[in-house]
Amino acid sequence: MPRTETSGHFLERLPWLTALRRHLHAMPELSREEEATSRLVADELRRLGLVPHEHIGGFGIVAQIAGSSEGRSVALRADMDALAIQENTGLAYSSQMPGRMHACGHDGHMAMLLGAAAYLAETRNFAGSIYLIFQPAEERYGGARSMLEDGLLERFPFERIFSVHNWPGLPIGTIAVQDGPVMAGTNEFEAIFTAPGAHGAMPHLSGDPILAGGYLLTGVQQIVSRSIDPLDPAVVTIGSFNAGAAQNIIPKEARLRGTYRAFSLEALDHIRQRLEDAVRAAAVMAGVTAELVVDGPDFPPVVNVQGEASVMRRVAASIVGQSRLPACRPSMAGDDFGMFLTHRPGAYAWIGNGTESPGLHQPDYDFNDDILAIGAELLAGTAEASLRSMQS
Ligand SMILES: [Zn+2]
Ligand SMILES: [Zn+2]
Repeated sequence: MPRTETSGHFLERLPWLTALRRHLHAMPELSREEEATSRLVADELRRLGLVPHEHIGGFGIVAQIAGSSEGRSVALRADMDALAIQENTGLAYSSQMPGRMHACGHDGHMAMLLGAAAYLAETRNFAGSIYLIFQPAEERYGGARSMLEDGLLERFPFERIFSVHNWPGLPIGTIAVQDGPVMAGTNEFEAIFTAPGAHGAMPHLSGDPILAGGYLLTGVQQIVSRSIDPLDPAVVTIGSFNAGAAQNIIPKEARLRGTYRAFSLEALDHIRQRLEDAVRAAAVMAGVTAELVVDGPDFPPVVNVQGEASVMRRVAASIVGQSRLPACRPSMAGDDFGMFLTHRPGAYAWIGNGTESPGLHQPDYDFNDDILAIGAELLAGTAEASLRSMQS
């Protein structure tokens, strides 16, 4: 594999990064609960001679690395939170927390960003400022939005932003940086149908929440197939339908939970409106009352800006070689990094976690430590290259 002149800096740090990643892996914390994780990151930053600004948008941290001279500014972002999943890898450094697991590799992303920080803080071979952003609550609650609402852009005025995610299915030693859409915009919802309830032999005495749920279940599938441009990717999935306990009783309530995803805020907004219509229509048909609870504003899609994506791709090519930059199709999975991209231009790369890797959010998933040096070098190199591209 071709490596840059600076690759040695990162390979040298691989044992440290691996130990750090495994330490983080053993102590997963859920979204908005990343207290110990945050403390550990802050301590590592201090050890590198940096000043961590803590408690930004929850347990978020930002640290600035000043270059050798004045100039422009860029940010690098890593996510911090884990998932409510029981780990089943059998690894020596498995989660010590029952029912919690770093099953999305955010432990690895934090280690990569600390690896980039170590190199950048030592070399400072750039003009301007590089901001390191450790973002909490990516999986739930929109930590990116919380950091922005906490004055992130005002306090740390970065002009470009970059991030990475490990990607199971892509070979080790590959990096994918797409132009345009990378990850879908998302939201989650719950529909609640209620009625007085009745004996199953006397349906005329109550509306039927289960029937309403049935209508909604099939109705939402028509949102995408009948009201979205077939050339615009979108999906609505109901993953949970709870109602009733007895075979001969019409229950008082049915609850359906789901998610919708698309690649533009307009399409997301359209789905949300059609979802409201479908819930209302299902309630009328089944003679029940309905409530739709949507999880706040839609999360925007991750859409790479072409200029920034090409900066990142050039750096990626210098690390792994031009032939190891696969062209990938976007994913309907989401990442709230898209929130940052609605404020500043930037790009987001997928780093191959191996073709044999179990998928993200699986109990047998594990981040591959072999890619720590690649990720750290990609982040650091992209920050330097982006600063250079703005200077010229
Ligand atoms: Zn995830
Ligand atoms: Zn993730």
